[in-house]
Amino acid sequence: MSTIAGNLQAVEATIQVACEAAARPRSTVQLLAVSKTFPAEAVLEAAACGQRAFGENYLQEGVDKIAAVAKALPDTPLEWHFIGPIQSNKTKPIAVNFDWVHTVERLKIAQRLSEQRPAERGPLNICLQVNISGEATKSGVHPDELLELAREVARLPNLRLRGLMAIPEPEADPELQRVPFARLRALAQDIVKDGIFIDTLSMGMSGDMRSAILEGASIVRVGSAIFGARHYE
Ligand SMILES: *Cc1c(COP(=O)(O)O)cnc(C)c1O
Repeated sequence: MSTIAGNLQAVEATIQVACEAAARPRSTVQLLAVSKTFPAEAVLEAAACGQRAFGENYLQEGVDKIAAVAKALPDTPLEWHFIGPIQSNKTKPIAVNFDWVHTVERLKIAQRLSEQRPAERGPLNICLQVNISGEATKSGVHPDELLELAREVARLPNLRLRGLMAIPEPEADPELQRVPFARLRALAQDIVKDGIFIDTLSMGMSGDMRSAILEGASIVRVGSAIFGARHYE
C-alpha cells in the first residue's frame, strides 16, 4: 500500500473513533485533504483511494493543480476548497475555479466573489474565518463583528453562506484544544438564532481533529497526516 493510502486509512480511523466518542454519525464529518505544496500526483493517489474533497492555500498552485487533476481524471468530480489568505485583487480565479472558500473575513472580498462567480457554476459555498484566539497577527473577523458580516454575506446573490472556520493557536493538550472549538460552535449557534441558516463548522487539522470533532466539526482540514511533512521553498 502507498504511504498516502495508508495515511488516509489511519486518518479515517481517527475520525471514526472521534465520531463514536462524540456519538455522531460518521457521515456528519467531511474529510478535506489539504494538498498544498504537494503535486497533482499526490491528489491523484488520494483520489484513487476514494478521497474527493481537496483544500489549497496558494492560488496559482491551486488553479494549476485543479487543471492538471481535471485533465487526468475527466470523469471524476472532485470538490476544491480554497483555505488560504485572499488578496482582494485575486478573487476572480477563486470564484471561477473553487467550490468552497473557507477564509472570507471581509465584506469587500465576499462582494467580489459574488460578482465574479460564473452563473453556470452555481453559488460558491462560503465559510467566514473567525479570529478565535484573539491574536493580533492571526487573520479572521473579530467575534464582535461576526454577526453583522454574516448578515451581509448571507444576502449576496451568488454565494451560499455555509458556516464558520477557525485556525486556533497550536495547543498540544487535547482538553485545551477543545476550548476555541467550543467557542466557534457557540458563535455559529448565535448566527442560527439570528435566523441565518448555516450548517458547517470548518475546524480541526492533523494535530487536533479529534478535539474538533468532539466539539462539532463538520469539516476537518487535514494535510500532513495524509500527505506527509511539507517543505516550503
Ligand atoms: C495547512 C493547513 C491545514 C492542514 O494542516 P495540517 O496540520 O498539515 O493538517 C489546515 N487548514 C489550513 C487553513 C491550512 O493552511
